[in-house]
Amino acid sequence: MCRPVTFKPGSKIRLSQIDPRKVDGEWDKVTAKERIRENTLVSRELAYRLYAENRRAVLLVLQGMDTSGKDGTIRTALTGLNPQSCQITSFKQPSSEELDHDFLWRIHKAVPRRGEIGIFNRSQYEDVLVVRVHNLVPEIEWRSRYERINEFERLLTEGGVTIVKCFLHISYEEQRERLQARLDNPEKRWKFSTGDLAERKRWPDYQAAYEEALHRCNTTEAPWRIIPSDRKWYRNLVVSTLLRETLEAMDPKIPPSEAGLEGIVVE
Ligand code: AMP
Ligand code: MG
Repeated sequence: MCRPVTFKPGSKIRLSQIDPRKVDGEWDKVTAKERIRENTLVSRELAYRLYAENRRAVLLVLQGMDTSGKDGTIRTALTGLNPQSCQITSFKQPSSEELDHDFLWRIHKAVPRRGEIGIFNRSQYEDVLVVRVHNLVPEIEWRSRYERINEFERLLTEGGVTIVKCFLHISYEEQRERLQARLDNPEKRWKFSTGDLAERKRWPDYQAAYEEALHRCNTTEAPWRIIPSDRKWYRNLVVSTLLRETLEAMDPKIPPSEAGLEGIVVE
């Protein structure tokens, strides 16, 4: 067993009461690595069937504070899948064209098509997180977005998209270590910007914004999963297991072939 932390729709959560170092059962780095490899093999086969079936899609949403490991999760937990049936989208600061549309415009365009697995590195949730913390739009506007997001996600799920939303939960101390590691390692320094320090000062505001987003958008159709992420290997294990279990539950089927193909010999 290696389960994310879940909670009932409608209930509130306190992130300070969820341990980012939590590990279920007897897992360690070695056993986790083996299981991740096994998950990859199973998911690859199921992703092939999902693609062949061409009816439904999976959308994995990754959110988390800076350094929580969104990139690392994609790299480790999801390699080995056929790139043809995967599509990764990283959401940065909106362009001026994107800002000239409603906040879901760029998101909707990036939703995976039938047969695909889509991965969002940041998502529609930035519009109630960074936007809220920095007052980028008036409160009345970002407040209405929780409901817009729920409606949007309902539209997608009714259209055959299974949404898996992961919050990569790290501690304040772990973020300090990871930012320091980026500074200390010339190979990683490119990831660091001085803005990261300013963002870190807003940690309590971000945690509050996350708590509200997790609470208001934890729906039955698209529930939030909180991934204890201070240990990278455990984070990767939980996310790769979630993806595997999601695909197993969908149980995609290879479509029937054209009738009368048996016995045909290609000359
Ligand atoms: P990174 O993930 O490190 O490449 O950084 C992407 C940056 O884009 C982060 O600082 C996000 O907060 C920012 N970002 C993403 N979406 C939005 C948005 N809708 N509005 C403002 N900033 C955003
Ligand atoms: Mg960054």
